[in-house]
Amino acid sequence: MSSPPAQIRVLPEQLIHQIAAGEVVERPASVLKELLENSLDAGATAIAIDVEAGGVKRCRVADDGHGIRRDELTLALARHATSKIASIDDLERVATMGFRGEALPSIASVSRMKVISRTADSDVGYVVTADNGAFSDPSPNPHPVGTTVDVADLFFNVPARRKFLRAEKTEMQHVLRMIERIALSRFDVGFKVFSGAPGARRSVVDFPRALDAVACTERVAQVMGAEFVETALHIERELGNMKLSGWICLPTAARAMSDLQYFYLNGRMLRDRTLMNAVRMGYRDVLFGGRHPAYLLYLEIDPSAVDVNAHPAKLEVRFRDGRLVHDFVFRTIERVLSETRAGATVNDQAPTHFDLPPAQGSQPQQGALGSFWPMSGATGGLQQPAHFGYGRGGGASLGASGFGGSRMEAGVRDAALWTSNPASAATTQAARASTPPLGFALAQLHGVYILSQAADGLILVDMHAAHERTTYERMKAQLQAGTLPTQPLLVPIAVTLSVADAELAEEHGDTFAQVGLRIERLGPTSIRILEVPVLLQKFDATQLLQQLLAELREHGASRHIDETVNEVLGTIACHGAVRANRTLSVAEMNALLREMEATVRSDQCNHGRPTWTYVGMSDLDRLFMRGR
Ligand code: ADP
Ligand code: MG
Repeated sequence: MSSPPAQIRVLPEQLIHQIAAGEVVERPASVLKELLENSLDAGATAIAIDVEAGGVKRCRVADDGHGIRRDELTLALARHATSKIASIDDLERVATMGFRGEALPSIASVSRMKVISRTADSDVGYVVTADNGAFSDPSPNPHPVGTTVDVADLFFNVPARRKFLRAEKTEMQHVLRMIERIALSRFDVGFKVFSGAPGARRSVVDFPRALDAVACTERVAQVMGAEFVETALHIERELGNMKLSGWICLPTAARAMSDLQYFYLNGRMLRDRTLMNAVRMGYRDVLFGGRHPAYLLYLEIDPSAVDVNAHPAKLEVRFRDGRLVHDFVFRTIERVLSETRAGATVNDQAPTHFDLPPAQGSQPQQGALGSFWPMSGATGGLQQPAHFGYGRGGGASLGASGFGGSRMEAGVRDAALWTSNPASAATTQAARASTPPLGFALAQLHGVYILSQAADGLILVDMHAAHERTTYERMKAQLQAGTLPTQPLLVPIAVTLSVADAELAEEHGDTFAQVGLRIERLGPTSIRILEVPVLLQKFDATQLLQQLLAELREHGASRHIDETVNEVLGTIACHGAVRANRTLSVAEMNALLREMEATVRSDQCNHGRPTWTYVGMSDLDRLFMRGR
């Protein structure tokens, strides 16, 4: 009784394009992404973008790239036609943004498209129009060297798609986000964005070509905000044929939203899970629960070690050795953050931690570069543009020299090249004054804060937060050295568990022992705790055990076991740290200050809150309107 089979037929060309378009063309922003990448691949240095009605009515990109020859104009619109690869070997080391030869035909199939282009060896440009799958022959059309692709009436012939478009304003936001992302991938290219119909065209965004550190800083501030630029830490590290550079926010500047996270791989912006997770892990010890770091990171890696052909929009990639890349990113971030020792950046932190009203008529003390460069010291910042690490060779921009498809320099073997050195400037200054960076304790305020006299001002320390951090780091070091002090229990604690949990506990007995928790299986559903970390004595060991088991149940062995261990240590440290309202002697306070100076990451407590802050004498003078 079943109906006869439907006839099998080859789909018309135009319909094939439209189906394929579904993969790359979702909305105006994705059209612009493809057009801009084509312009970058063509070597453009200046790109003008016109958007009407959020891009739905028109997206036009005009570049000064090398153009398309007359006899290839129609071919550029044909499916699987590309100038970027010719063989499967080329695909293995592709360094251009495009290579599938799909964008132009896909966009042409769902819009009214016009391509005008001129190459340097021709006196005149040529135009080709595509309308519902039919291409015109190239005809002469005046145009400077370069290419303009004009996309009008997106999805006019695909009503189903059109329905998914949002309000003009929303589409415009997507468009601007997209342009910002691309602008941060190529500082050496200028981008101008205009919106509105021809008669009412107005400039929306302008990213001038940025060829030096100051200009690059300005562009970063345009997108990421001035606050990021003022507080971010610089990263630059090479290992084997991998290089990671860029900026990451201090944990204390983490955000409620994950919106300011930019990760570029070989000039391509990604939202790759491996990489995002690596960054998150780098922050694992220092982030306040639920907060998100802001970062702008550039990873360069030998193109043959990564497959960018894993995702049509190329947002995710496949690494030949994902673990290696993950660990490199994670360790680098962790290390840079660990260098934020207390006192190391005392001079630079003052302006961000204290919002004292500026004195009348006072000039900002630092130029854009100085303030963008928090670790180079208030005095050193302006004179040390070399610290910027932009490109190789003076004045080169990120995009021109380091990214955008340039090959890695072969044979770069640098175990650990750390250009960020937050300690240097401030410590030399402090050494001159022979006062330790965090100064000498004066008193305790309301059982919560330590007041300390520093070389040129007052330091306030959150006693509990600081103690928690130093305890945690000490325990971690002890753990690594295998010297974490533990305490055998006179009376072991018996714990009843489900069979599955008891099995799990037994199986991971070694892991538990690592954190000083020695257990023994007694029966199918019972174990007992024989030994606990010294600091844990007053804390509930059963609770700790349950926490570990919950972690293991949820993440299994797949999770880095040290991540779990560190979490547990964090809990122990928090419980072991001095509580507020405990009176400390001056000697105890000084001991804590000295320990903070010697402890990595002691600028934040384990939850990413600051542990200390600084008020300079000049801040105090200003507060009291006292001219010095
Ligand atoms: P792909 O970028 O994957 O090669 P596209 O469909 O995006 O595929 O583009 C097809 C071809 O058209 C490109 O390979 C390139 O040769 C040419 N092309 C497209 N846009 C431009 C441009 N703005 N300037 C110069 N050539 C371009
Ligand atoms: Mg392309």
